Amino acid sequence: KDTINKIAAGEVIERPVSVVKELIDNSIDARATDIRIEIEKGGKRSILVRDNGCGMSREDALLAYKKHATSKLMYIEDLNTISTMGFRGEALSSITAVAKVEILTRQQEEITGTRIVIHGGKVLETLDAGTAPGTAVHVKDLFYNTPARQKYLKSDRTELAHITDTVMRLALANPEISFTLLSDGKPVIRNAGSNDPFKSIVNLLGPDTARSMLPLEYRTEDFEIRGYISKPETTRRDSDQLFFFVNTRPVISRAINKAVLEGYYTRIPKERYPVAVLSLDIDPGEVDVNVHPRKAEVRFSREKEIGDAVTLAIEKVLSESNL
Ligand code: ADP
Ligand code: MG
Repeated sequence: KDTINKIAAGEVIERPVSVVKELIDNSIDARATDIRIEIEKGGKRSILVRDNGCGMSREDALLAYKKHATSKLMYIEDLNTISTMGFRGEALSSITAVAKVEILTRQQEEITGTRIVIHGGKVLETLDAGTAPGTAVHVKDLFYNTPARQKYLKSDRTELAHITDTVMRLALANPEISFTLLSDGKPVIRNAGSNDPFKSIVNLLGPDTARSMLPLEYRTEDFEIRGYISKPETTRRDSDQLFFFVNTRPVISRAINKAVLEGYYTRIPKERYPVAVLSLDIDPGEVDVNVHPRKAEVRFSREKEIGDAVTLAIEKVLSESNL
């Protein structure tokens, strides 16, 4: 397989949002319940992700930024499925190669933590440091040593928009985790973790949208779809907003997006736009993440079957509410 080639460093970290996504994935993997993201200048100047997860020992932290270092189980199949997140052992090494990074980390049971400073892949400092349990990764001056890539970055606003979208999707996908996103000191997203996923919909998509949401569910022996579709709101929206999660990972699927719209427009006039939040639970072996790591576009071996189920479930719930 050419998987390893495909995920060469440059592929993984393309822009600030790639850093944000990889760091949040690591925080989620570390079982954090509170994740705080602070960015400056669209993430170009600075990205800080702090979590209250398991933390790392000094040895682990010194290994973590090395290529292919991973503490997570690695099966070849994992690279083709999303039973695990991200690309094994690539993220921290790719990030530290192209930025000025400080890692502050402490394991829950340890008294002191570790501070490691790495610039362009070189470790400059390793010190004991007092810090709360968990991990904070501070990434400054992304692509400072690869100006060619820096050139491709868009305006602060555009980079921030990508980051906001990604944090929003991750927060919706993990409603039990608290997420805070600050941009240049101003709060952009704040979602307190809760066992009630609907609370995060109210909070992240707004009370008006949340009020318009109809719950839906569809089960077969092989997969389960749960989520919400909006009925037309009084205030018109000018585009659709589709959130799709497979086994709690935010992903993009053209087939599912198409199926959502197909179901919606069998009942609703074309000039309205839906909001949909859909979770699919399925055997990871049926999911193909063969595309770009950042976009996380997926395909399914039962694409038609799943798409039809989505269309049907949406049609059904809309017709049940006399729409
Ligand atoms: P991967 O996530 O695929 O293992 P990464 O390069 O993203 O690879 O991270 C390397 C390793 O660093 C992880 O396997 C984990 O052991 C450790 N690590 C990274 N971020 C954190 C974090 N926020 N909390 C605890 N451990 C972390
Ligand atoms: Mg990772």
